[in-house]
Amino acid sequence: MFETVSVLRTAIRAARNEGRSVGFVPTMGALHEGHLSLMRRARAECDFVVVSIFVNPTQFGPGEDFARYPRDLAKDSGLIQKLGVDAIFAPSTEVLYPAGSQTYVEVPEIAARLEGAFRPGHFRGVATVCAKLFQVVQPDRAYFGMKDLQQVRVVQRMVTDLLLPVTVVPCPTVRDVDGLALSSRNGYLGAPERAAATVLSRALRACEAAFAGGELSAHALEQVLAEELGREPLARVDYAVVVDASTLDPVERVCSPAAAVLAVHIGATRLIDNALLEADCTPDTGRHSRV
Ligand code: AMP
Repeated sequence: MFETVSVLRTAIRAARNEGRSVGFVPTMGALHEGHLSLMRRARAECDFVVVSIFVNPTQFGPGEDFARYPRDLAKDSGLIQKLGVDAIFAPSTEVLYPAGSQTYVEVPEIAARLEGAFRPGHFRGVATVCAKLFQVVQPDRAYFGMKDLQQVRVVQRMVTDLLLPVTVVPCPTVRDVDGLALSSRNGYLGAPERAAATVLSRALRACEAAFAGGELSAHALEQVLAEELGREPLARVDYAVVVDASTLDPVERVCSPAAAVLAVHIGATRLIDNALLEADCTPDTGRHSRV
């Protein structure tokens, strides 16, 4: 377990000097199978794997759950060690935000939409902490979950814009058997809410089914989402829309890859999820095929 930058860097430098590639999985801890799937992928693809655990204060807004976010470093490090990860980096806030810190990374356009509109400053915090962590670890490959699609796009944009020598590897969303995407925040749900939370994945599956049946209109697909979400009395929707899967811009028709993206409150807990809708439009027929 590494807590300081200098000691971690020494270990990474030693691995690099042996010609080993470095994989990195940033997390906020409270680990579940979703996180572990990223670590397994990193383990399979890289020689030296670093996992960070850091509940990043700058990505939480006022009134959000920073103080009560679940923290259990002992349990997390037990899970990580079983996977043969080489280094766990669990810095204090003062290590990543030295006294007097004033430098932030903004990715203004992608970060303004969807999650950013409901959580102002969230992606500024995400981009900033990822830039710092990339700077410390200097990984060849960094693994992120598609569950947080917009986060993946923000980080990819930042990596491109800042010419950072790291490949961002998006990884599939891991779900519970009933479809609910795993999340550290699922622990906040009581039993009735946990049952109600399956409405997110049900809505996405209904949308995917309509799309597979040939529906390409974003408006119609959004109606499918709204209808399914509307059936659950405990659900309060922040957004349920179909957007371009790369830019997250609104679309009218699903032509290039799109995504259905949701943010829904179930009681006091806010959950997000998404599904990719990948189409290959041929202008002469207007029909599509899955890619
Ligand atoms: P977090 O600890 O919530 O910051 O998440 C750390 C990483 O795990 C991020 O890249 C998330 O997108 C990813 N992640 C979270 N939940 C899942 C999941 N259910 N499936 C796959 N990846 C996930």
